[in-house]
Amino acid sequence: MKEESKGKVYLVGGGPGDPELITVKAQRLLKQADCVVYDALADAALLNLCRSGCETIYVGKRSGNHAMPQEQINALLVDCALRHTCTVRLKGGDPFVFGRGSEEGMALAQAGVPFEVVPGISSAIAAPAAAGIPVTHRGISSQFTVFTGHEMPGKAESSLDIQAIANVRGTRIVLMGMSRLRESLQQLIAAGLSPSTPAAVVQWATTSRQRSVQAPVCELADAVEKAGLSSPAVVVIGEVVNLAAELAPAIQPRPLAGKRVVVTRTREQASSLSTALQEQGAEVLELPTIRIVPPTDRNDFAAAVVDSPHYDWLIFSSPNGVIKFFEAFYAVYEDIRELGGARIAAVGPGTAAELKKRGLMVDIMPQKAVAEELIAEFDRKADEFGGVANVTMLWVHSEKGRDVVYKELMKRQAIVDECVAYNTVPETEDPTGARGRLMAEGADLITFTSSSTVHHFMAMGISLPSECRIASIGPVTSATLREYGLVPHIESQKHNISDFVNSILDGFADEH
Ligand code: SAH
Repeated sequence: MKEESKGKVYLVGGGPGDPELITVKAQRLLKQADCVVYDALADAALLNLCRSGCETIYVGKRSGNHAMPQEQINALLVDCALRHTCTVRLKGGDPFVFGRGSEEGMALAQAGVPFEVVPGISSAIAAPAAAGIPVTHRGISSQFTVFTGHEMPGKAESSLDIQAIANVRGTRIVLMGMSRLRESLQQLIAAGLSPSTPAAVVQWATTSRQRSVQAPVCELADAVEKAGLSSPAVVVIGEVVNLAAELAPAIQPRPLAGKRVVVTRTREQASSLSTALQEQGAEVLELPTIRIVPPTDRNDFAAAVVDSPHYDWLIFSSPNGVIKFFEAFYAVYEDIRELGGARIAAVGPGTAAELKKRGLMVDIMPQKAVAEELIAEFDRKADEFGGVANVTMLWVHSEKGRDVVYKELMKRQAIVDECVAYNTVPETEDPTGARGRLMAEGADLITFTSSSTVHHFMAMGISLPSECRIASIGPVTSATLREYGLVPHIESQKHNISDFVNSILDGFADEH
């Protein structure tokens, strides 16, 4: 008897490479998934969307190891459906374009498992487009033919009609064609394709590693060899390739194109830094180094939150402090007005932004997110607020933070209570495989957005790849790096993401 499946499997297209090129539906499903089964071409950064606790299973090839056989993947998907409510089978491009998604769908159907296909943008169209080549163009190409290069030469069981492909009108697009490129093109020419037909190869399309070459069909294999292009790449053959001369220059090379940048982050943190770097063309490797967990003493935290309406000042030392404080606050109180009329201080713009999201403006905030600056700001504004002596303050912070704020305010006779809202611990999992990739493939730059990311990165015991530069969000983080004998090549003047990204661009500007 068949076991009743617990949930549903979604065969999801992950798009051609750029993690922003997935569908809204795919994004929602990844956020909601209990389990994600993925392979090599799906950008691992997409897995950062998954909630913590989501099971991730890699079934692709990994340095020398063979991919899991298809039958085994089919069986695995059925098994996942027995155990989980929502399983996402994430595949590169579109799941039904050479992705064997249909075989997986059939296996699920046979096992009585409900499934749904979520189409994705196929590299067949996206790769040419990313190189400025439209697959159709009025008056030049009214049709396109997509075929696999895997089956081409001499294969007895090949289902490809070479004759027909060589003589078809319009644009021809070859996927999985790199390992037999030379023979395939020769075969097409022998079957009647004009050797002077314009052609192009686009590798790693839509990613920061994208590279392409153009040449007539008869010279393409040599050009590809010379440029050192290999799989994954799409071959485009047809007159439309000539349009790239007009369309490609409009596709501006971005300043960080070809650079791999490591973002050391907490998994919960919004990945605004990653997005900003991707917009500049970088390939981002998100390396979760720390995880936010509840403070050791949850009772103390709860009590502090319950008492929070009774203070003259609330002082927030980090964005995470704001997030965790208000999570707890709304677990106790229903109405923001319960907070009363306390004045609010934030250690810097990021923390103030998190408060603003909750409709709270700050009374004190230094431009540089450093404890000393916060104290200096209190001193500067002492007259405005009547000083801090005998004023009650609740200081919301992380278990591992420095105690400068506490000590300095106590020195000024303030009555300061602590509200330890969270703790940071090392991320021990490698959920996206980013750690493995950093060690295997290296990187051009590694970014640190706080001292604790430095400590936790060092605790992971990964040695920095040679040639890898270091960027620090500010002086305190830099000082921590120096404690480990690391010298930041780039340091942001202001402690916020956009200034940090600008400093990184300046840091690489000398290369252009
Ligand atoms: N389902 C996928 C194709 C899977 S077959 C899709 O719809 O895109 C794998 C082939 O896809 C590769 O050999 C290569 O030809 C192509 N491919 C996938 N991603 C690519 C990328 N970013 N750049 C160039 N080619 C890519």
